[in-house]
Amino acid sequence: MKRLILTGFCLLFLTACNEPPQSSQYQIYVFGTLVDITLYGGSEERQQKAVSRISEDFQRMHHEWHAWKPGPLVQINRALAQGQSVRVLPSLIPIIKQSSVLSQQSEGLFDPAIGGLLSLWGFQSDGRPNGPPPDAEAIARWVQAEPHMADLTLDGDMLSSTNPAVQLDFGAFAKGYAVDLAIARLREAGIDNAIINAGGDLRSIGSKNGKPWRVGVRHPQGEGVLATIEVSGDESVFTSGNYERYREHEGVRYNHILDPRTGMPVNGVTSVTVLHDNGAVADAAATALVVAGPEAWHRIARQMGIKFVMLVDDAGVVYMNPAMQHRVEFQAEPPGDIRLSDPL
Ligand code: ADP
Ligand code: MG
Repeated sequence: MKRLILTGFCLLFLTACNEPPQSSQYQIYVFGTLVDITLYGGSEERQQKAVSRISEDFQRMHHEWHAWKPGPLVQINRALAQGQSVRVLPSLIPIIKQSSVLSQQSEGLFDPAIGGLLSLWGFQSDGRPNGPPPDAEAIARWVQAEPHMADLTLDGDMLSSTNPAVQLDFGAFAKGYAVDLAIARLREAGIDNAIINAGGDLRSIGSKNGKPWRVGVRHPQGEGVLATIEVSGDESVFTSGNYERYREHEGVRYNHILDPRTGMPVNGVTSVTVLHDNGAVADAAATALVVAGPEAWHRIARQMGIKFVMLVDDAGVVYMNPAMQHRVEFQAEPPGDIRLSDPL
């Protein structure tokens, strides 16, 4: 009798062991996006503590990084425009340093010194800008001034610029940097299996009960999913799209990703998806490769250390490196030809 009970107990226990651990879902609204956090493992208390820490980090970053609402970055930009050096918050130092490296690797195609140009085009606003494009002379003056991250010098926590046209705007890699910070917080809390998804841009660590996560890449022309990609381990998937935010005037769309060489919105590229372990790198690279376009994406990706790229142009042609092709599973008919590049 005793044995039977024991057997019964073991079976029950085994059944319980075989049940996959439950995932927990949390949501934070920040940067105008709903951020989904899915966690496996760790006690509920530990999870909740980590998520509220992440939420605090996100709100703080939102304030410290804001390029047009009064706050630390606006103050920095005012000082730089007046040729003054300015003390920066310790939390902004790694952001300035990492984005300077990424900017240099991208030959300035990703360049957070572009704030003045974004402001001219009306992209430093909460709503969608309207009205005619900015004055051509103002754009030409900005292009001639050639503001770059390389004009900045950081001496301890004192920042100065040799070029008063430098105005910082970290919009092109804020999400990636924030996701990296959040993953670091989860790891500090001993949570090793998680996915953080900020409106389709995401980073994963570990796995979903030993299986990869399957994530969707939005169809660049309309709704639905173009392709799925399986991610596991430490990996980020970032997409930059010209369909997300734009200015419209008399039926003409002016995209929010600008080419710092011309001062004009990028045309011809619908979206770029990049995989990389670091979220900030993936985010910066996705923006840089939109600017690089079908001609230069391969060279710039190499310089930035990116191994997986998919670029869709406005005609629907899909450009990929062979390793990316192995990762991508199309869910819809690709809108155009697939052009494979040399390996990255
Ligand atoms: P999303 O916000 O859709 O994820 P991105 O990561 O590509 O898109 O960021 C685009 C934003 O980056 C723009 O809205 C603008 O604020 C800024 N930006 C535009 N062009 C550049 C550029 N060449 N270099 C750096 N930042 C840029
Ligand atoms: Mg980006």
